[in-house]
Amino acid sequence: MKIVKTIEEVRAQVKAWRAQGLTVGLVPTMGYLHEGHASLIDASHRDNDRTVVSDFVNPMQFGPTEDLESYPRDIEHDARLVEAHGGDLIFHPEPEEMYHEGFSSFVDMTVLTQELCGLSRPVHFRGVCTVVSKLFHIVKPDRAYFGKKDAQQLAVIRHMVDDLNMDIEIIGCPIIREEDGLAKSSRNTYLSAQERQAALVLSRAIFRGMELVRAGETDCAAILKEMRSLIEAEPLARIDYVKIVDCATMQQIGTLDRPALCAMAVYIGKTRLIDNFFTEDV
Ligand code: AMP
Repeated sequence: MKIVKTIEEVRAQVKAWRAQGLTVGLVPTMGYLHEGHASLIDASHRDNDRTVVSDFVNPMQFGPTEDLESYPRDIEHDARLVEAHGGDLIFHPEPEEMYHEGFSSFVDMTVLTQELCGLSRPVHFRGVCTVVSKLFHIVKPDRAYFGKKDAQQLAVIRHMVDDLNMDIEIIGCPIIREEDGLAKSSRNTYLSAQERQAALVLSRAIFRGMELVRAGETDCAAILKEMRSLIEAEPLARIDYVKIVDCATMQQIGTLDRPALCAMAVYIGKTRLIDNFFTEDV
């Protein structure tokens, strides 16, 4: 397993693999890796001859008041995890390597980014689409792996690949949770012991929503009402949004009459956490 910091080194390595006829999978991450990321690396390792993990806290996808500076970083830990899960190359660039002076091109999207996280994070998906496009051009993978934890991101990437005719298969992987239900996230490290306990309202509300869907409830308002009241009972929690949207468009719906995504963002103290379920997975 190798760690490289330049685009040139990635290209040289991938070229050498391609010359041997090997397939390549890409797992884009912002580092501080946990079992959620590991499940993506495992999936890539299963499907491809070689796996590239990008480990880059992308400044472009953070808003001016967000946690770019404090976002946790630990490349030595990440290297051990990638190696243990069969990854072959970590691409760990400095921001200047990805965004040279005078950088002025962007990949952006309408509709899908105008709901859910797009509302409270207006520059986020432009940053995600731009960096993922760059990574696709740099690595030129056969397949790329994304977690359903970031469900809107997965939908946006699938849409981008389709709209822009990128010849890459996008694989969505299930949410990995702590034993008590909390979805694994690099941002969980921000939580105090008391907040960590309070954060369980997210998964509790998700599980309740899934239960209602399983029982045949199709009225989105009824499902959301129960989920919201569970979260509102926790004094440390503040809802950003809890919504049900059409999977294809990310626009809100009133009845579960098509594949839908139920997604939430909730502040626990100062930490913004997300969780969700797809009705098709219930
Ligand atoms: P991040 O480093 O948070 O940008 O995440 C990198 C990739 O890992 C994204 O595709 C995420 O959706 C995925 N991911 C993060 N947490 C989880 C999790 N708990 N389960 C599954 N995938 C995850």
